Amino acid sequence: MRFLQLLATVGVVCLALAPPPSASVSAFFLPNISSIPPSLLPNVSSPAWNAFRNFSGCHAGERRDGLANLKKYFRYFGYIPETPSNFTDDFDDALASAIKTYQHNFNLEPTGQLDDATLTQLVRPRCGNPDIVNGSTAMNSGKAESLSATHFHAVGHYTFFPGTPRWPDGKSDLTYAFLPANQLPDDAKAVFSRAFQRWAAVTPLTFTATDSYTAADIKIGFFSGDHGDGEPFDGVLGTLAHAFSPPSGRFHLDGDENWVATGDVTTSSLSSAVDLESVAVHEIGHLLGLGHSSVEESIMYPTITSRTKKVDLATDDVQGIQVLYGGNPNSNGSSSTPSTSQERETSDGGEPRAPGPRWAGRAIVAVGLGMLLL
Ligand SMILES: [Zn+2]
Ligand SMILES: [Zn+2]
Repeated sequence: MRFLQLLATVGVVCLALAPPPSASVSAFFLPNISSIPPSLLPNVSSPAWNAFRNFSGCHAGERRDGLANLKKYFRYFGYIPETPSNFTDDFDDALASAIKTYQHNFNLEPTGQLDDATLTQLVRPRCGNPDIVNGSTAMNSGKAESLSATHFHAVGHYTFFPGTPRWPDGKSDLTYAFLPANQLPDDAKAVFSRAFQRWAAVTPLTFTATDSYTAADIKIGFFSGDHGDGEPFDGVLGTLAHAFSPPSGRFHLDGDENWVATGDVTTSSLSSAVDLESVAVHEIGHLLGLGHSSVEESIMYPTITSRTKKVDLATDDVQGIQVLYGGNPNSNGSSSTPSTSQERETSDGGEPRAPGPRWAGRAIVAVGLGMLLL
């Protein structure tokens, strides 16, 4: 509860400060904002992609204002090839094809239409890393895990970056550090430590915090908007974070999100509250070499609704990471952890981006572009 008072005071002060452009953000985390008066909370009205909901029922051959923005969304996440021409507001074949592939990746009926189920998925907050790199998608390819007719035939959907980059064999003890300018509180740092341990438990890898940001293998930083890597963050919700493939180690989080570092995110009064550990576990998967998976229970599924906690590795995640690194030699034979059923308290509410960093009940994360820069 002591943090609530911090929010009421520090939070307001932060909102009055203009964030430095293209720069890291300072931040504060509040674990529980459920009892904070709404008047002290940031506005919650316009999540990044909410306008897409207006396209419900829009179909091929139609022209609708703003469809060009939807095409940009699909291009950003790899569903429309890079093209020099400007996008039009026409519902053309390229858009229909992108929608179909997206529906396939997210286990939706591949109608090629902007039906409500598809739009609901499209506007969910998500990782900024693309689902498709270099035009080929493996997200829902259904790799067979066992060819034995007498055994359970599991289907994996984990993916890797093009070329299957991984940390080299001689580099299994990795260090990580936080951007000093962020001045993260210990509670927030502890969240990352827990997230790393989830991956360490099922691999031979270890993760150790270090104070040397420049020397660390993995560099964690919260940024606002354009932060110099060509993948600007977009304010509240939308893209939350992005991470680069091995051995880059760059892990960026959107400093404008309402990050929850401690406390029960599912009961937050702020509809745009995002669980920091959930996003951290996902992004670390990228840092180690995993791409997105179409298995909704998996950590590497691209979207996460706000006010949702999802931190346990699913079988799909464990199988994928162990293809890259093998299992944990210190574990007693168990090669997987059970996936947990997810609480999916959907809330697509968001807020226009606030001028300053807020970590109250907001911790942050943006993941994103690593893959695009390969
Ligand atoms: Zn991702
Ligand atoms: Zn970045």
